[in-house]
Amino acid sequence: MNCIFCDIIKNEDHDGMIYSDPEVVSFLDIRPLNLGHTLVVPVEHHTDFREMPPESMQHFFAKVQQIALAVEKATGADGFNIICNTGEAASQTIFHLHYHIIPRFRGDNVFRRLEFKQYNSETEMRSFAEKIKKHL
Ligand SMILES: [Zn+2]
Repeated sequence: MNCIFCDIIKNEDHDGMIYSDPEVVSFLDIRPLNLGHTLVVPVEHHTDFREMPPESMQHFFAKVQQIALAVEKATGADGFNIICNTGEAASQTIFHLHYHIIPRFRGDNVFRRLEFKQYNSETEMRSFAEKIKKHL
C-alpha cells in the first residue's frame, strides 16, 4: 500500500517531527494554515475517522489534547482548531486518518469564507436531530 503517512511513520523521516510512541505520531503539516499547524496521526493505518477503533481513542485523544496545548503555548496562539476532514467531500486529501491542530490568532482570518446555512424552521431542525439519533 502506498501511503505517505505510513512512510513517514516507518522512517520517522520528517523535519517537523514532534512526537511518536507505538500508537501515535505527530508532525508539522507541510502546508500550514498558520505556522505551527500540526498533524496527529495514529500509527495504525485507518483510511479515515469512520474506521478508527473506539478502543484506541482514549490514548489518541489524550495525545491530541496534550499536543494541542503544546502547539498553543509554543506559538503564543490565542486558541486553536482541531479538525478531522473525513472523506473527499470534506477536503480529505491523504487517506490515512489524521487530526489537524491549527493554532489561531485573533483576526487571522484563516477561515474567512465560511458560509453558515440555516434551518428553515424548528421542525426542520428537530427532524435532522431525530434522523441522526436513529443512527446512534
Ligand atoms: Zn497509512
